[in-house]
Amino acid sequence: MIDIQKLVRPNIAILKPYSSARDEFKGKADVFLDANENSLGSPISGNFNRYPDPQQTILKQQIAALKNIATEKIFLGNGSDEAIDLLFRVFCEPGKDNILLLLPTYGMYAVQANIHGTAIKTANLTTDFQPDEHEVFSNINASTKLIFVCSPNNPTGNTMPKSFIFNLLEKFSGIVVVDEAYIDFSENASLLEHLDKFPNLVVLQTLSKAWGLAGLRIGMAFANPSIIQLLNKVKYPYNLSLPATRLAEKALKNEKVFQKKLKILKNERERLADALKNLDFVEKVFPSDANFLLVRVRDADGLYDFLAKNGIVVRDRSREIHCENCLRITVGSPSEVDILIKFLKEFQ
Ligand SMILES: *Cc1c(COP(=O)(O)O)cnc(C)c1O
Repeated sequence: MIDIQKLVRPNIAILKPYSSARDEFKGKADVFLDANENSLGSPISGNFNRYPDPQQTILKQQIAALKNIATEKIFLGNGSDEAIDLLFRVFCEPGKDNILLLLPTYGMYAVQANIHGTAIKTANLTTDFQPDEHEVFSNINASTKLIFVCSPNNPTGNTMPKSFIFNLLEKFSGIVVVDEAYIDFSENASLLEHLDKFPNLVVLQTLSKAWGLAGLRIGMAFANPSIIQLLNKVKYPYNLSLPATRLAEKALKNEKVFQKKLKILKNERERLADALKNLDFVEKVFPSDANFLLVRVRDADGLYDFLAKNGIVVRDRSREIHCENCLRITVGSPSEVDILIKFLKEFQ
């Protein structure tokens, strides 16, 4: 059995976290004179003069109900990017520890590793973007603390096999971070239901993609309470703003609207994939469980420039490993997909 405490950086293990006014007072009161707030209120309506709940109790309860998970297993961050940052702060000793990435993948893991002075080991996915277990296990060592598995993977769109992830969780004695930013677009189940079996599993999700709330900056990390407590220990005391938290609480009550939009986007993904497959300069449309398509074309730079000239921005991924001549195209609204298809048909 993995002892999570043994993986923690020594300075974090002994850290006494900042204790805010809202953390310290637990009772009921009418007059709050403990946090140096302005009791006269804000110069705008909306009552922003009080610090928000550092533990985001109400929003966590809503997410707990939505995901069928205990609130003690939920961490909320300023985007899932915050959770990624905090995992480094907790587990990776600068200049000593390393992480493993399966390439190509989301760029933030490497940026955070560089910020935190953590070496990056890599294992390339196969040309059809499947993990190569031998390659993965031969690249980890005793100082490997985190393995990031993005599933569905950005920029390739495919889900990583469960058997591979379970194998990692059982044989790797560090933390396996499964980034499920795009899980709502996938027909495959989340790994959330397996948290009880694996003390070293961290699942990341976000309100930025399927929930359409990228501007609020709210990400979620799910793990066993021992890991969640460590993330809480190192986070900024009031890491989610009051308006963001309030708006997210409101949005999560509109699950029907969320489901309706999700269905439209999944339909558009199939419609766009079919249209792309009919174009003679398109060499491959990779299967996608996300809200984007990775597309291999004859001339990625040429197509990128042509679309840009016509006011359409896509992501050029052609310099990523195994992504030669590939563009990553987000699935937009039906009218945006119409416009994209119209211009694609004009490209020669
Ligand atoms: C978009 C994305 C995220 C989301 O990040 P937020 O900070 O929550 O907006 C996380 N992981 C991957 C792989 C993504 O593509």
